[in-house]
Amino acid sequence: MEFYTTRGSGASVSAAGAICKGLAPDGGLFVPAAFPALSLEQALAQPDYPSLAALVLEQFLTDYDPAFLRDTVGQVYGAAFGEGVAPVRPVEPGLYSMELWHGPTCAFKDFALQLMPRLLVKAKEMLGDASTTAILVATSGDTGKAALAGYCDVPGVTITVFYPSHGTSEIQRLQMTTQQGSNVAVYAVKGNFDDAQTGVKRVFSDPDVAAQLAARGVQLSSANSINWGRLVPQIVYYFHAYCQLVRTGGLRAGEPVDFCVPTGNFGDILAGWYAKQMGLPVGRLICASNKNDVLTEFFASGVYNARRPFYRTSSPSMDILVSSNLERLLWHMAGPERVKAWMEQLAREGRYQVEPEVMERIRADFGAACADDEAAAGQIRALFEQQGYLCDPHTAVAYLAARRHKGQAPMVVLSTASPFKFPKDVLKALGQEAPADEFEAMAALEARACIPAPRALACLRSLPERFERTIPPEAIRDAALGAL
Ligand SMILES: *Cc1c(COP(=O)(O)O)cnc(C)c1O
Repeated sequence: MEFYTTRGSGASVSAAGAICKGLAPDGGLFVPAAFPALSLEQALAQPDYPSLAALVLEQFLTDYDPAFLRDTVGQVYGAAFGEGVAPVRPVEPGLYSMELWHGPTCAFKDFALQLMPRLLVKAKEMLGDASTTAILVATSGDTGKAALAGYCDVPGVTITVFYPSHGTSEIQRLQMTTQQGSNVAVYAVKGNFDDAQTGVKRVFSDPDVAAQLAARGVQLSSANSINWGRLVPQIVYYFHAYCQLVRTGGLRAGEPVDFCVPTGNFGDILAGWYAKQMGLPVGRLICASNKNDVLTEFFASGVYNARRPFYRTSSPSMDILVSSNLERLLWHMAGPERVKAWMEQLAREGRYQVEPEVMERIRADFGAACADDEAAAGQIRALFEQQGYLCDPHTAVAYLAARRHKGQAPMVVLSTASPFKFPKDVLKALGQEAPADEFEAMAALEARACIPAPRALACLRSLPERFERTIPPEAIRDAALGAL
C-alpha cells in the first residue's frame, strides 16, 4: 500500500515511510492510495482482538512482515488491556457503549499509542534509519500519559512531555509526573495549553534546533494523531464492535450500524469512516462536539470557521478549534487541489468553505451535534439513574449527540475515557458534593457507583512523583535540546 500526501505533490511513500515522517514535507497528511476490502466473513472468523487487529493492519502496512505484525499486536492487546480489550455493553435498547478505556493509562489513545512506538522502531529499521527519535508532546491531558506509557524505554527514542501548569486534572498530572522509564522527561509549563503547544510548535519549526539535534544524530518527531501510525490501529475496534454485536445477537451480519464518536482532532471518527470504506456495514457516523462546536457548524453549513471563542469545558480532550484529520476526509471527498486551497485559506484567514456538492457526499456518511457542560452533566446523571451506567463527560456528550441522530439502526457510542479520571465533575453531575481531594473524590465515586476505580488510577496516590519542574514557555527549547 502506498500513501499520498493530502496537499497533492503526487509522490507516494510506503507505510513505513509515512509512519517515520509523520507529516509530509509539503505540510500535508499521509492518506492511503486505496481502500483495501475486508469481508465480514473474514472479520467474524477471527477468534480474538489481536487476530482481528493483525488482519486489519496487514491490509495497510503491506511493507511490514505479517509475522511481526501478528507478534506485536499479540503483545500490545494482550494482558495490558484486560480481558475484553474493547467491551461493547448494551445500555438501552439499540444503544451500546464500546468502552475504549481499559488500556494501561485508561485512555482510548492507548489503542494507538501502545502500538505506534513499535511500528516506528520497525519502520526505522526497515528504512535503515539509525537516528535517535526525540518525541515532543504538548498535552492538555490524555495524550501525554498515553504517549509516555507507549514510548517508555523504547530503544532509539526519547520522549519529552509538556503540560500546562494550570490545565490538566490532578489525576492526569499525577499520571504523567509519576511515569517510570529512563528515556522520559515531563515538564509543567507556566500557562495554559496554548502556551505549551505554541512553545512546542516553535521548537519544531526552529532550524537552529533541528541543526543542533541533527549534529547529534537526533530527529524531532511528534506523537499526535496526524501520524498514520496512530490512525490505523483505531480502525480495528469498529470491526470489533460490529462482530461483537453479531455474536451477541444484537445484529444480523450485513445490517448497518451507526457509530457516535466524541470528537476533537477527528482521528477516531475518521478511522470509522475508513472501516466503512473497507466494507464494514456502517450506516452513519455521528460527530459529537462540546461547546467548541466548530465541526457541528461545518457539517451544517459547509463553512469551517476556526476564528471563534475557545471554551474550556469538562470534556477537555474535545476542546479544539482546528481538527487536523478533517483534512484527510476532504482529500478523499474532493481531491488534493481543493484541499491545498482550503488549508492555505485556513492558515491565512482562519476559515474556508466547502461546495454544496462535496458537503452532500460528506453528509451521506456523517451527522453532527454538540452539547454544553450542563447538558453533559444532565446526561451523566440520567444514564446513571435510569440505566445504572456510569460514564465520563466526553462519553456523555456523545450520548446526547447519539440521541439526536438515533434511527432504526443500532447505535454504538464510543466511550473514550474512564469516569474515574474526572471524579469531581462526575460526582457533581450525580448531584453529590465533591471532596476537594481527588482521591477522596475517587473513593466517593466508587462508593456511589459501586464499581472500583481502575487500578492504574487508584495507585497514583502512593507513587512517588519523579518530575516536579515548572518552566516558562521560553524554556521549552532548552528542554528539547536536553540543556535543562
Ligand atoms: C483524544 C480524545 C478524544 C478525541 O479524539 P480525536 O481522535 O482527537 O477526535 C475524545 N475523548 C477523549 C477522552 C480523548 O482523550
